[in-house]
Amino acid sequence: MQEEWLTVDTAWLEQAACLDMPVDAPLNEGMQGELLDRCRRCPVRETCLEYALSRKLQWGVFGGTTGNQRRTLSVERVRAISAAMTEPLEV
Ligand code: SF4
Repeated sequence: MQEEWLTVDTAWLEQAACLDMPVDAPLNEGMQGELLDRCRRCPVRETCLEYALSRKLQWGVFGGTTGNQRRTLSVERVRAISAAMTEPLEV
């Protein structure tokens, strides 16, 4: 019998805007802010968030949300925060 992690489809990770950054470890504020900026323009943000919610991942940035938000807010509120992210304005 295969372990679950071997059967999970993670092909979406290849499109992640944060491929070169750690996303599943405690982050300092600067790194967290940079990650959240990348989430704004990430093509797989919704998939990333659902991945974290389905696994109850409580640390790190996923889908434009922080671990603290996922620990303390309702799933509906967390989804709304992620969905409200938009591309940063060009200056
Ligand atoms: S949504 Fe954010 S954390 Fe998730 S893959 Fe994209 S950039 Fe990375």
